[in-house]
Amino acid sequence: MTNKNKVIIRKVQDYDPKIIKDIILDGLKELGVSGKIGGRITIKPNVVMAHHKIAPTAYTRPEFIAGLLDALKEVGSKGTEITLAEKCGTGLPTSRMLRRAGYYKLKKSHNLKIRPIEEARKKRIKLHKGRIHEELTTSVEIVDNDLLIYTPKLKSNVLAQGLTASIKLNVGILLDKERMWQHNFNLEEKIVDILEVGYPDLIITDGIEMSFGGNQLTQHGIYLGIIIMAKNPVAHDAVCAHILNLVPEKITYLRIAQERGYGSLDLKDIDISGDISLKDLQEKTRDFDLGYMNVKDVKCGFHIFCGEPYCTGGCHGVFLDWLYMVKDRKPKLWEKLPEWTVVIGKYKGDVRAKRVMLIGTCTEVLGKLEARSKFRVKGCPPRHKDLVLWLFLRAGIVNPLFRIDLILDSYLFLFFSWCRRFFRGRL
Ligand code: SF4
Repeated sequence: MTNKNKVIIRKVQDYDPKIIKDIILDGLKELGVSGKIGGRITIKPNVVMAHHKIAPTAYTRPEFIAGLLDALKEVGSKGTEITLAEKCGTGLPTSRMLRRAGYYKLKKSHNLKIRPIEEARKKRIKLHKGRIHEELTTSVEIVDNDLLIYTPKLKSNVLAQGLTASIKLNVGILLDKERMWQHNFNLEEKIVDILEVGYPDLIITDGIEMSFGGNQLTQHGIYLGIIIMAKNPVAHDAVCAHILNLVPEKITYLRIAQERGYGSLDLKDIDISGDISLKDLQEKTRDFDLGYMNVKDVKCGFHIFCGEPYCTGGCHGVFLDWLYMVKDRKPKLWEKLPEWTVVIGKYKGDVRAKRVMLIGTCTEVLGKLEARSKFRVKGCPPRHKDLVLWLFLRAGIVNPLFRIDLILDSYLFLFFSWCRRFFRGRL
């Protein structure tokens, strides 16, 4: 008998729901949870954004969820009810993103209930261990269930020091206002606070096609061919970090989660099993450039000045993520960006330039600022949607997100979603 947390890594050829189902069934057995499948089950995927053209690879694929649903059906007790709950990012309506991700097809075929979190019944929960959040609001499905299953997408994320796996997924149980609140230098503590409410019983990660190296929404995918299963989120994320050749102890929110007693990052405390070794996977990902860097080091047409605080999860990270969004679809655009000087944070020095953009509410030049034109994108940090809009309106930069169908999603369908919430009393 061992007290180590188990993490299973299984090879899989492609997104065949039948194969995925069989692998998940094996995993449930090995983790000792096969007999506990029943009652009200909530699945939380990663659908921060989905779009067939510009965001095709950075979300948990519906075939993966179909395989999971088939597995749960096979071992689940009679009367098992399964609900999928999610809140997407970028200020878009979740119902649109889940539709674009192909999840609504599973509603009929698998008798799945789908709950965009902003449109669901909510619960306000007091936290006992929170350092940033004293309380938070999420949907009842996340809180009141018999089994909470997280199905993250394995991907890199420059806002989260390189990695998004199960713990960072928790930001997606919050509503927009609370999600962006303290999404700055406090992001790491905030992420760990949310674990008190969003603590999964089971994690099953889609690493069949992982995505990396760019913007968390629009970056490219590559076949990695694995499913990762675990019960402990810290052990799970530590293994994911190692798979990407990252050092888990250097990822602040993982270190904080360990310090707060949620689990150990040490591989000596983790029992890794499966049919592919960590070493083989590290070899596969050895040359992957995850894109995590200081935003001032980006070589593009902009001159970027960084000041304090350096907010990896805030303005600095969001602007870096915006730059990647431009590059993901138009790799040559970085060199052709118009000559603007960008200031992020409180910059100790003088700035003399033709055109200056200040990113973030707290940003200022502490020395002399001389510029013919300047503008500020407000927010702590600004939302992607606002960056996309303001950089188009003021700097004339057309971002790939600037598409008619996404503009309709962002404004018209967002209004419809607001109406549904209003009439159901769920604002
Ligand atoms: S405004 Fe931006 S730089 Fe300033 S604290 Fe907020 S996120 Fe950080």
